[in-house]
Amino acid sequence: SVSQFPDQSPLIELCHVQKSYDGKNLVIQDLNLSIAQGEFLTLLGASGSGKTTTLMMLAGFETPTRGEIRMGGKPIQNVPAHQRGMGMVFQNYALFPHMSVAENLAYPLKMRGLGRSEIEQKVKRAIDMVQLHGMQARRPAELSGGQQQRVALARAMVFEPQVILMDEPLGALDKNLREHMQYEIKQLHRHLGVTVVYVTHDQGEALTMSDRVAVFHQGDIAQIGDPTSLYERPENPYVATFIGENNVLRGRPLERQGAELDVALEAGFVVR
Ligand code: ADP
Repeated sequence: SVSQFPDQSPLIELCHVQKSYDGKNLVIQDLNLSIAQGEFLTLLGASGSGKTTTLMMLAGFETPTRGEIRMGGKPIQNVPAHQRGMGMVFQNYALFPHMSVAENLAYPLKMRGLGRSEIEQKVKRAIDMVQLHGMQARRPAELSGGQQQRVALARAMVFEPQVILMDEPLGALDKNLREHMQYEIKQLHRHLGVTVVYVTHDQGEALTMSDRVAVFHQGDIAQIGDPTSLYERPENPYVATFIGENNVLRGRPLERQGAELDVALEAGFVVR
C-alpha cells in the first residue's frame, strides 16, 4: 500500500539541497525528500518550479550548491552519472538516428562492457518488454512517435537500472497515445518493481500514475503525499488551488476518486 513508503528505509535521500545556477538566486530552496525503493514518485509543478533541476541533480548532470544527495545511505555527489545505476527518458527521446532499434538498445550495454551474447539476450528481452517485435532492424525515423517512445523506455531499462528518471517523457505525443503510454509505463513499473521518479506539469498524469506526488512551487515542495490526500487534504492554499483548478474528477464524491483512478488505470485509459 502507498502509505508504507515513508516508513521504509529510503533508497534515495535529498537533504537540505539548494541549487543556484548564477551564485545569487536559489532555484531550489531547501529540498528534503526521501524516495523509497520501488516507489513511483512524481514531481509535479508549474514551469520553472525546479522539477527538472531536481531530476538533473539526481541523475548527476547538475551538482547541488549546498546539501547532500544519498543513495542507499551513501553520498553520491562524486559518483558520475553513468555509475549511478539510473536510466533516463526525456521528452525528445534522443534515440541515435543512424542506429537501428536493436543497436540503440545495445548501446548502453556496450558502454558498460557487456559481452556479445549477454547483450543479445538483454536486447531481446527489452524488445519483448515493450512489444516491438519485428522492428529490431528499423531506424528511429521509420517508427511512429509512440514506437520511438517505447524504444526510449526500453533503452532506459535495458541495463536493469535500480532507478528510472523520466522528464516529461510523453510531452510530444498526442492525447490518445499519451494516455496509452501512461498505462504502459505504469504496467512496466508494476512488473519490474523499479523505482521511478517522473517529472510532469500535467496534474491528471501525476495523480493517475503515482504512488506519491511532490507538488513543486518556487523551488520548494509545497506538499507531498499520495494522490487522494492531495485532493482531500491540501495543506496550503497553493496546493488547494493548483490541484483544485485542474481537478479532473471535480464534482464526484471524494471518497470514490481513488477507486475511480484505479479502475481507469486497469481499464487502460485515464479519466480526463
Ligand atoms: P521546471 O522543470 O519545473 O520547469 P527548472 O528546474 O527547469 O523548472 O527551472 C527552475 C529555474 O531554474 C527556472 O527559473 C529556470 O529558468 C532556471 N534554470 C534551469 N536550468 C538552468 C540553467 N541551466 N541555467 C540557468 N538557469 C536555469
